[in-house]
Amino acid sequence: MIRVEKLNKSFGDLHVLKDIDMTVNESDVVVLVGASGSGKSTLLRCLNFLEIKNSGTITIESERVEKETHNLNKIREKVGMVFQHFNLFPHKTVLGNVTEAPIQVKGLSRQQAEKEGKELLDKVGLGDKYNVYPSTLSGGQKQRVAIARALAMKPDVMLFDEPTSALDPELVGEVLATMKELAVEGMTMVVVTHEMGFAREVGDWVVYMHDGKIVETGNPSDLFDRPQEERTKAFLSSIL
Ligand code: ATP
Ligand code: MG
Repeated sequence: MIRVEKLNKSFGDLHVLKDIDMTVNESDVVVLVGASGSGKSTLLRCLNFLEIKNSGTITIESERVEKETHNLNKIREKVGMVFQHFNLFPHKTVLGNVTEAPIQVKGLSRQQAEKEGKELLDKVGLGDKYNVYPSTLSGGQKQRVAIARALAMKPDVMLFDEPTSALDPELVGEVLATMKELAVEGMTMVVVTHEMGFAREVGDWVVYMHDGKIVETGNPSDLFDRPQEERTKAFLSSIL
């Protein structure tokens, strides 16, 4: 589904991603962990082409993606992204947030977009919030709108960048439950999170990054209980 080979990304002199190789198969849930500044967000942003790589290849659904290619927007539609700070449109209702891209980008009729949007909002537990504005929602509700909005484009892959880090602790569970439901339905997901319980329970693979490199990849029980690399051991003992 996603294949990353020898991916490098720099910001000026700062070499942030160093020869990243990563494969994400269909229906995999890959959890990216690592210290602040290790390059997790940059890697996700490269997968969504919010950042343009310096070298290496990214293949999504067997299409190799280059910034010059005409298919960038098409590919972007296949990759949904959810951010820490929700990034909802404040002047649009909840339903308006979810229908905006399908109407504007995909050319769906308003009627069709609203029908699908309501189904998605029902699915994330916001069936009673279609017509309210984001400012009236809790953080957990906002994040579930953001998830519904990304799903409205019918992506093949969903990227999550610390989706629960901005939430009050009592709101984290509802967002993780929504993500778990998606995973169980077979959505392919790459998730940056500090929620190690989620990583263990829902993750198929855990990827540990340090200083722009992938140090170790394993299934959750191997990586958490039997880490091979000293770096991984040090990281885990700092967070667990
Ligand atoms: P965190 O856990 O704090 O979110 P991260 O692992 O997501 O960290 P990144 O945000 O990918 O780390 O940042 C990796 C490095 O790249 C950091 O040193 C950061 O300062 C730098 N960086 C990220 N984006 C930019 C940018 N647009 N311009 C310059 N430097 C950047
Ligand atoms: Mg980050």
